[in-house]
Amino acid sequence: MIVLKFGGTSVGTSESLYNVKKIVESLDDDAVVVVSALGGLTDRLIATAKKASAGDKSYIEDFEAMAVRHYDIINDVVAADCAQLTRARIEPLLLELKQLYDGISLIADLPERTLARIVSLGERMSSIIVTDMIAGARHVNSLDIIKTEKYFDKNIAATELTERLIRENLNDGPYPVVMGGFISSDKDTGEVTNLGRGGSDYTAALVAAALNADVLQIWTDVDGFLTADPRIVKDACVIDEMSFVESMDLCTFGAKVIYPPTIYPVFHKNIPIRILNTHRPDAPGTLISEHPAVENRPNKYIVGISAIKDEALITMRGHYASDSKEIAGRTFNVLSLKGLTPHLVAGDNSLNTFSFAIANKEASQAVRLLKEEFAPELLEAAIEVIEMKSGLAGLAVVGDNLKSAPAMTDRLVSILEDAEIPILALTDKASETNTSFVISEVDVNNALLALHDAIF
Ligand code: ASP
Ligand code: MG
Repeated sequence: MIVLKFGGTSVGTSESLYNVKKIVESLDDDAVVVVSALGGLTDRLIATAKKASAGDKSYIEDFEAMAVRHYDIINDVVAADCAQLTRARIEPLLLELKQLYDGISLIADLPERTLARIVSLGERMSSIIVTDMIAGARHVNSLDIIKTEKYFDKNIAATELTERLIRENLNDGPYPVVMGGFISSDKDTGEVTNLGRGGSDYTAALVAAALNADVLQIWTDVDGFLTADPRIVKDACVIDEMSFVESMDLCTFGAKVIYPPTIYPVFHKNIPIRILNTHRPDAPGTLISEHPAVENRPNKYIVGISAIKDEALITMRGHYASDSKEIAGRTFNVLSLKGLTPHLVAGDNSLNTFSFAIANKEASQAVRLLKEEFAPELLEAAIEVIEMKSGLAGLAVVGDNLKSAPAMTDRLVSILEDAEIPILALTDKASETNTSFVISEVDVNNALLALHDAIF
């Protein structure tokens, strides 16, 4: 069994859909195909919803353009004798979309639940088109088998129920099965939900794990994981093989290749992931597995570098802040209870500070929570201040063997110093598979270039 996921750019144009058709129809194995919405459509669906709810009537033209795009693609990719049927399957979905837009335009409001229904239509439509394009394919409605539950104000996968439903519906053929990624429904209310932006990868991982697939193939528009973001570092190169942990570290720090939660379900079952390029199906891509071959790596210790922007640094200062174990425990506790995730932790006992990086959009809430949690220490000045600095970035140098590299942190620090990039914080050996830094957002490109140049 193989699970294949095709992202938006893979299903975004008739040309790339022809490649998808060729790839799936030439498989020898049983396969489940998970697809995103047509490239760029999710953004479009959201932007149009915002317009409609803000009283801008041009939402009608936007809607019409989206409808035409789907019909044009059907004409191109679905065999002529089926296309009529495909149009008849898409029509009610477009009607639903139009009614949702008209509704929010009328009430001049955009409730979250309604937006979730609107965005779901992207994958609901693309999955039908892809099914009808592929000979013998069977469509399965993701809303029936991918279930979520509430976790604070987020919807998260209800994994046990979802696993059971996947098995019940997909364990037996006929294959290939095609289903939409990203979309789901609430396990109690049945309301339409989703797994978060970029969540199609995660859908595919849940399916691969539940079915004990031999491999999860993520088909995208790049040749695999690269040693750095190629838009910034022109001579970044493809990583042939890497470990699950390395891929998780790179993704957590901003590599956009896969949605970070994707890795857990397959990692847990030791199912390898292969990243492949739909536009160059013969390229080998990147293989992510438990024991990657590392002999041919350009650097023995480091597999790649990535950066995450829009970060803030929260620093607590005072003599209590030097008790880093205790302070870290309490900090993680209170943040995780609200679903907030710090990315990188740095303590400096000699300066009596404890700091961590977190997404900008979570930072103010984090400071509020910490001020509550540490109110007694603030009162007696065991902690003097809790301060926040935004406009920052986290930079991670990743590799499973980093721990055995002599004086690596010093070397990385001096590379950044030579490039005149101020380091605002540095990991406190929190993970032995990455060394990470907090720097100013404006320095990110230079930092990536300097590090990549020195390392590879
Ligand atoms: N279509 C969704 C998005 O754009 C999910 C995905 O493509 O993974 O976020
Ligand atoms: Mg994606």
